[in-house]
Amino acid sequence: MTTRHEGGCLCGAVRYAIAEPAKFSSMCHCRSCQRATGAPGAAFVGVPEDQITCLKGETAVYESSPGVRRGFCRTCGTSLTYAGDAWPGEIHIYTATLDDPGAFPPAMHTYTVDRIVWFEPDDGLPLLPGFGSDGA
Ligand SMILES: [Zn+2]
Ligand SMILES: [Zn+2]
Repeated sequence: MTTRHEGGCLCGAVRYAIAEPAKFSSMCHCRSCQRATGAPGAAFVGVPEDQITCLKGETAVYESSPGVRRGFCRTCGTSLTYAGDAWPGEIHIYTATLDDPGAFPPAMHTYTVDRIVWFEPDDGLPLLPGFGSDGA
């Protein structure tokens, strides 16, 4: 049986489920993620798009860079998904929107060139200056 994980936005208007296995889990420090979330960085879980099911509502989409589509709740603004032309067939879920975000610990930090100076990872994970396998 496939393990399923559910998640959703702050107000509950959008709910989704993803099925394992994930392709990756990582923590992105790029400026786009910082601004899109209002947070120092964003953790992502990547899954093939046929492993995500929308259970309730739908996301609004903002194209933050050419070919990059960030999905969010139009009511509460929670960032939920990331899809990019560079990652065809994949959806990257914002890990913190999962009901159990601890289920997918990140394996690396990406875009650490944009890392905020006071936000210094001390978890021993690889620090990639740019593009990781999430490229978010
Ligand atoms: Zn919402
Ligand atoms: Zn990013």
